[in-house]
Amino acid sequence: AKRAGRSTFRYYTESLTTAAQARLSMDTRLRRALERDEFELWYQPLLQLSDRRLIGVEALVRLRQPDLPPLGPAEFIPVLEENGLIIALGDWVTREACRQGRAWLDEGLDFGRIAINLSPVEVRRGGTDERLRSALLASGLPAERLELEITESGLMEQSGQAEQFLGRLRALGVQLAIDDFGTGYSSLAYLKRFPVSKLKIDRSFVRDVPGDPNDEQLVRTMIAMGHNLGISVLAEGVETEAQVRYLLDNGCEAAQGYFFSRPLPAAELRSWLRPMPP
Ligand code: C2E
Ligand code: CA
Ligand code: CA
Ligand code: CA
Repeated sequence: AKRAGRSTFRYYTESLTTAAQARLSMDTRLRRALERDEFELWYQPLLQLSDRRLIGVEALVRLRQPDLPPLGPAEFIPVLEENGLIIALGDWVTREACRQGRAWLDEGLDFGRIAINLSPVEVRRGGTDERLRSALLASGLPAERLELEITESGLMEQSGQAEQFLGRLRALGVQLAIDDFGTGYSSLAYLKRFPVSKLKIDRSFVRDVPGDPNDEQLVRTMIAMGHNLGISVLAEGVETEAQVRYLLDNGCEAAQGYFFSRPLPAAELRSWLRPMPP
């Protein structure tokens, strides 16, 4: 028994060491990737359901790897949030999205709005509004072309300051969306006070609709909540025609998901863009 115990212990410390090493090398790798400009934005179309018109694109960050498919954000955002580099990445994402949006406009291509994700850490840390203002100015992208997606938890952690923070962002002229709606703590009272123009229903509620009566009820409630407050509603993670139909029948105006398109590199997203209306 003693021997078994000891070998278990050794196994345990070895695996801890391995995890710590993996973390450390990921940390180093991400620092280097930021210096060497190895991140990339992919874009997923956001559509108006009634006519499937493109109303925007969501920028989703990827890390390029030689000879491998790019690494998704789940692999590195948590590490960056922990080591503080998320601020630098967020700044890069903002500048790159603004640059891309401006480039499309200069080509006469209409993408509607370009949406970027803000980490709760960026919300908490402050300075985000100055960084945004500077990125907008540097790029020449009109502020109303930019939308910021913020999760409910990001806002609630800020509690009292959230309203002022959102107010400063709105004063810049950018649009605000609540991301992953339904997974956090938003109360009606909060929603009413926040100057947001869009709710994005989290994909976990959309997955089993139609079919699961609980989720159907929740989705309908979230659509009604948004509309009662004059906020437009977008459903995430739409993968089937049946989901599209259900959402349309229940008054949801917009959606995104694999049914329409996966996130695409900028060059491939171009086929979604139309000439700017005169
Ligand atoms: P999110 O903001 O909720 O983004 C939507 C995620 O759902 C994306 O994953 C997208 O590829 C995926 N998705 C879209 N449609 C479907 C669908 O029909 N089915 C399924 N199963 N999935 C779908 P991705 O790109 O891996 O991003 C994951 C999360 O990483 C994002 O969730 C967001 O929270 C975070 N993230 C991505 N880019 C950034 C960024 O630039 N900054 C920050 N702070 N976070 C980011
Ligand atoms: Ca998002
Ligand atoms: Ca989301
Ligand atoms: Ca999500």
